[in-house]
Parts: sequence; structure tokens; C-alpha cells
Amino acid sequence: MEIINCIICNKDKFVDHISFQKSNSDDIFNLVKCECDFIYLNPRPDSKEISKYYNNKYVPHLIESKSFFYSLYKFVQKFTFKWKLKIIEKNSRKINSVLDIGGGSGAFCEFLKNKGKNAFNYDPYFSESDTLSISDLNEKYDVITLWHSLEHMHNVNQVFETINKHLDKNGMLYIAIPNFLAYERKYMKYNWPAYDIPRHLYHFTPDSIKRLLEKQNFEVVKYYTMIQDTFFNVLVSKDNNFLKKIYILLKSLTVIFLKKEKSSSILYVCKRI
Ligand SMILES: [Zn+2]
Repeated sequence: MEIINCIICNKDKFVDHISFQKSNSDDIFNLVKCECDFIYLNPRPDSKEISKYYNNKYVPHLIESKSFFYSLYKFVQKFTFKWKLKIIEKNSRKINSVLDIGGGSGAFCEFLKNKGKNAFNYDPYFSESDTLSISDLNEKYDVITLWHSLEHMHNVNQVFETINKHLDKNGMLYIAIPNFLAYERKYMKYNWPAYDIPRHLYHFTPDSIKRLLEKQNFEVVKYYTMIQDTFFNVLVSKDNNFLKKIYILLKSLTVIFLKKEKSSSILYVCKRI
């Protein structure tokens, strides 16, 4: 385990915020709140220790499975990929080349390739795919994407070094992450799937991701609600009360419709400052 300073303000001024006891183990994890309000896992498993928490049941890393949940995941993924491509086409000047960072087995890149795009998967954390290594990266990319991967990465500065080095000067950066202000979180308490302890190392809000991006010389130009994640978070949670789930889902959808900052996850469209 390692203790870290805040990745946004660099300080070590934090207080305990929420404690989690992992089921079927003695592991206890703490989310802390920094003086600057940023919430993160501290201490956390270091980059070697974390691998044991990505076991062979971790759905985003599965290449094939016969489970119902995996089939549902793949079904929803198909629609989500189309939606993502539409947003990229709408907000980018050109998309001749796309680099996806943290794309696991590379499913999004495969989708883009089937659409005739030049797409590359770079995932230093996923050893079983034929992902690029850092030395294979082309000089510049028109678009760089991180789909629910930033919150898993130990060395955020290094990730942004890669982005700064390899994003074309007019290129666009797309970051999708869970939102700690998600409306459904307060109803679901410890069952909120986006806690994903200890794989999710950071819990961003619209304010904290903007501060991190500014520090890395990026700004948010637009952001989108990822409504599919509200369905996922509410319906897939461990709570067995189905009526309660439907109530939370309807209420969350209404609130998010009125206020995007309450979305379960947000896709941020970013450019260099
Ligand atoms: Zn801080």
C-alpha cells in the first residue's frame, strides 16, 4: 500500500471521508477528502498490488464469457460506441487518427477500425491484448480518448505527459469518468457501483476534473451526460429491492435531465488552453 498526496493540489492535507470493508476479506479502504475537496483512495494498493483486484471476473477486461451480465454488457457497449463516435465526429476538427488510452482489450479501437478509422489502443495496464507499447506510439493523434480509465491510473502525470506529447496541436481530448456528485449515490450508499473500491483511485466532480485539466494545460469545452451509466449504476447495484431501484432510477433521470452536474458519469470534451 502507498500513501499519496492529492493529485490536484499536491498537498497531504486530507481527512477520512468514507471507509469500506471489502466483502469476503479483511481489507479496509478509505476515501479521503483533501483540503481542496478532492476525494481519493488513500492509502491505495500500489501499481503492482492492484493487479490482484483485476481478477478474471472483471468484466471490462474479459475477452469472452458466456455469462448473462457479459452479454448485456456487450449489447449496451455496441450502442455506446456509436454514441461516442457521433460525439467525437461532432466535436473534432479531424479524426484521421485516434489513440484510446486504457482501452483494455481494445474493443473501442476495433469498432473504430471497422468504421474505417485509424485507431490505436494503448493500455499499459492490460497485458493480454496486443496493445501498443509507448515506443510504438505515432508522433501525433487527432483525437485521444480515455473511457472510464483515468480513475484507474496510478500515475496521472505520466498519462498527461503522454497526452501532451502525442495529441496534435489542434487535437481534442475526450475523458469519460464517474461523477462523485451523481444523484443516485446518496440513495445507494455503499452499494454505489462507481465506488469500485479499490480499482477506482479517484472520485472526480465537474469542479475537480476541471482543476486537474487546467493544471495539465487543458480546458473543458463541452460535457455530456452518460445516461447509460445511470441505468447501469442503479440496476446493477447489489441492492435487491427492485421497486426501490425503479424509484431511484426515475428520480435520478428527472434530476439529471434538469441538472447535468448530477449525472452518474460525464464525458468531458477538452482542448489545450
Ligand atoms: Zn487537493
